Amino acid sequence: MSVSAFLKLSVLAALATIGLKTAAWWVTGSVGLLSDAMESFVNLAAAMFALVMVTIAQAPADDDHPYGHNKAEYFSSGFEAMMILGASLAIIWTALHRWFSPQPLESLGWGVALSIGSSAINGVLATAMLRAARRHDSIALEADARHLMTDVWTSVGVAGGLLLVPLTGLLWLDPLLAILVAVNILREAYGLLRRSVDGLMDRALSDEDRGRIDAALQQLTSEHVHFDHLRSRRAANAKFCQLHMHVPSEWLLGRAFRERDEVERRLIDSVRGLRVTIELLPEGKEPVGVRQAEG
Ligand SMILES: [Zn+2]
Repeated sequence: MSVSAFLKLSVLAALATIGLKTAAWWVTGSVGLLSDAMESFVNLAAAMFALVMVTIAQAPADDDHPYGHNKAEYFSSGFEAMMILGASLAIIWTALHRWFSPQPLESLGWGVALSIGSSAINGVLATAMLRAARRHDSIALEADARHLMTDVWTSVGVAGGLLLVPLTGLLWLDPLLAILVAVNILREAYGLLRRSVDGLMDRALSDEDRGRIDAALQQLTSEHVHFDHLRSRRAANAKFCQLHMHVPSEWLLGRAFRERDEVERRLIDSVRGLRVTIELLPEGKEPVGVRQAEG
């Protein structure tokens, strides 16, 4: 299944969850269940936004965006993080109100059953999405799946805690659970936001990829050929690497080109999907830009 098919499915699941959890809050009057329901609204908007952004991310490179549109995914996870942040603050506000004017809960059995039902749907979907996210190397899908999974655990926690209210008579358990859920959502949002910003900042390739490239270059280095000034960056699942290839100045261009081709092929073999830019230079000479930068 494709990334966008999974995101469409998660829009449907979010709609179902909103229905079930809103009903659960309606029959019980529990702010804990309300905070759970609020998270699902966040899920819905985020899944729809991710769907739009992923469609853009998969668009081929064009004249205005010659390196492709991969970074669109980071906007999607950044947007999701902001939404989660807003929702959790709203939940904390509501729960504090309830803390100071506690109210009895009604039809708790029904409410908990509805909430557990929606958690089951989300749990199955999140597991499938997490697997697909690894296969497609998609941060948007991974963000969505992790978020769904958090929902499942928090819903289970809220449901379990609410069942204690009639047993113990402690009405403040409900707002307390709501606040705990909200704090957990805040933590989740912070992590997502950090990753999105990091992704927008032209991060270098992972140590693992960099290790493969270095190993390949080491094999290709000879008494005639050597490499330097390697720089790498990634944009979502697109990987870029540029470097200098220095060869003896008496080599004819045809020979240098054949050797360069071999280097490019080996690098692409070592890291799947790598886009390589190799600058061919005579031994002992660096281009103007490098000479100026290095004084
Ligand atoms: Zn160089």
